[in-house]
Order: sequence, then structure tokens, then C-alpha cells
Amino acid sequence: MDVKVFGVVGAGQMGNGIAHVAAASGLKVIMNDVKQEFVDRGMAVIEKNLGRAVSKGKMTEEEKGEILGRIKPSIDPADFGEADFVVEAVVEDLGLKTALFQRLDEIVPAGKILASNTSSISITKLAAVTKRPEKFIGMHFMNPVPVMKLVEIINGLATDKETTDVTVELSKKFGKIPVEAYDFPGFISNRVLMPMINEAVFALFEGVGTAEAIDEVMKLGMNHPMGPLTLADFIGLDTCLAILNVLYEGFGDPKYRPCPLLKKYVDAGFLGRKSGRGFYDYSSK
Ligand code: NAD
Repeated sequence: MDVKVFGVVGAGQMGNGIAHVAAASGLKVIMNDVKQEFVDRGMAVIEKNLGRAVSKGKMTEEEKGEILGRIKPSIDPADFGEADFVVEAVVEDLGLKTALFQRLDEIVPAGKILASNTSSISITKLAAVTKRPEKFIGMHFMNPVPVMKLVEIINGLATDKETTDVTVELSKKFGKIPVEAYDFPGFISNRVLMPMINEAVFALFEGVGTAEAIDEVMKLGMNHPMGPLTLADFIGLDTCLAILNVLYEGFGDPKYRPCPLLKKYVDAGFLGRKSGRGFYDYSSK
């Protein structure tokens, strides 16, 4: 299958990054969100990130313009009628994603591929709400998408080989390294990462250390490029909580129970960098 038109649903942190790398690889991209202001914000982020590449001499002003010109901003899902491959990057909520895929299944031509960038929700379950489970796959990018090399490819129970092959090749075309995982809660990445982040929040909750101390120990002692609480702020605390709930419910194992402090931060609207406050304060940045 030849992918020429690539659709992205959601223009948030992940969606605009995915649209960026797809357009930079030469594909025509449709980037959709529910409101014009969200699409505009996504486009502004892509423009800013491309501008940084220009100022570092990695790209010309002309190339930047060409990449931006390949992205069609959209607030009408009907635009996906011309897409060959659509990846969803809306908030980590099963009900929302289910309703969205039922709608996309009606719009995107039969035989074309639907993918989810979900961090943890079952690909098999999402695929089952469509009439094309064999053409459904997990395409899990890492944040920030233009920088991070990994794409975790998650095969649902019914995903066919052509769909996997096309997704692997697309990931390479985007300059990424695909790694395949089976469809279990959290896949590989968040099965391993989220319990570590949750344990760091418990350490803060129980007063074992300050946020700064916990992050410094993991950075200096374990050679992590950033501490787990900084990383959680970067991912979004709502996303972390949603993933932990999927692990907790999916395995029925109390070891995945989200820390009450994480729940409290999300209840307070402290969602990390994107809201200006999480374990750290970003309001002045
Ligand atoms: P975000 O909150 O930054 O963006 C989500 C966007 O989806 C928002 O702009 C919202 O308006 C839009 N949206 C909601 N409903 C929509 C609909 N019906 N149609 C179109 N757009 C809609 O969230 P994010 O961090 O970009 O996460 C998106 C997805 O990517 C989640 O499933 C998350 O688990 C996954 N993910 C996140 C990270 C991360 O580090 N943040 C990493 C990998 C995967």
C-alpha cells in the first residue's frame, strides 16, 4: 500500500509532532482538532520547532515553508476521506477514542489503515469497534516526536502483516526506529516507565525526598537524562494517571495503583508543563 496522504487526529503535544515528522518526510498531511484555535496552536508549535532547525542551520527557510505547506489544518473529520493512513492522538480516554474510531471508520476509505498513538489502551479493543480490525494498529510515538527516535508498533490480535509492514516502513520514512510489541496494557514502554514514575510520586508523597532530590538521585545515580517527576510533568500528569489506571484495571494487580498524590494533582488541574504547574512550577517560563 502506497501512503501519500497521512491524517493526524488531535493537534496537541503529540499530534502536532507527528504531523511535523510526516510532513518533513514529504507526505501530504491533514492535521485535525475539534476547534480552529487548537489547530492554529498546533501549527504555531510546528512553525516554532521548524524555525529552531532553520536557526541551527539544519534546514533552509524555503524547506521550512515547503513542510508547512504540506500540512492542511482541519476541523472537519470528513477531510480524512482522502487519507491513506490516519493516526489518532487525542486525549487518553477509552470512550473518546472509541467514538472517534467509529466515526473515522465511516469516513476513511475501506482498506486504508487506522492507527492509534495511545500510550496504554488495548489496540485489540479499539480495533474491534471498527469494521477493519485487520487494518488497525498501534503507532506509539515518543515525546517530543521530532526528537525521539522510537516508535513502538503494537499489533492487535487481528492486525494483518501488510498493516504492520506499512507502519514499520512509514516509521522509518519519518526517520524513526520501529520496535514491535504485543498488545498488553502499557505495551513495553509504559509497562516499565509508569510504575517507576508512580513510585517516584509515592516517594514524594511519603516524604522520602523532595521532588528535586528524587529527580537528582535518578539523574546522577541512574544516568537518566531527566528525573521521573520532571518526565511526568513533561508527559502530562493526566496522561500518566490515565495510563496507570489502564495498567491497574488491565492486570487487576494492586502494584499498579496510582499514588493518591498524583490523583490530587490532576484533580487540582496541575497537569505538568502544559498547564504551567505540576510537580514543578512553569508559570514564569
Ligand atoms: P494533548 O492533551 O496535548 O492533546 C490532545 C488533543 O486532542 C487536544 O488538542 C484536543 O483538543 C484533541 N482532541 C480531543 N478530542 C478530539 C476529537 N474528537 N477530534 C480531534 N481532536 C480531539 O495530549 P497528548 O499529550 O498529545 O496525548 C495524545 C495521545 O498521545 C494520548 O493518547 C496519549 O496517551 C498519547 N501519548 C502521549 C505522550 C506524551 O508524552 N504526552 C507520549 C506518547 C503517547
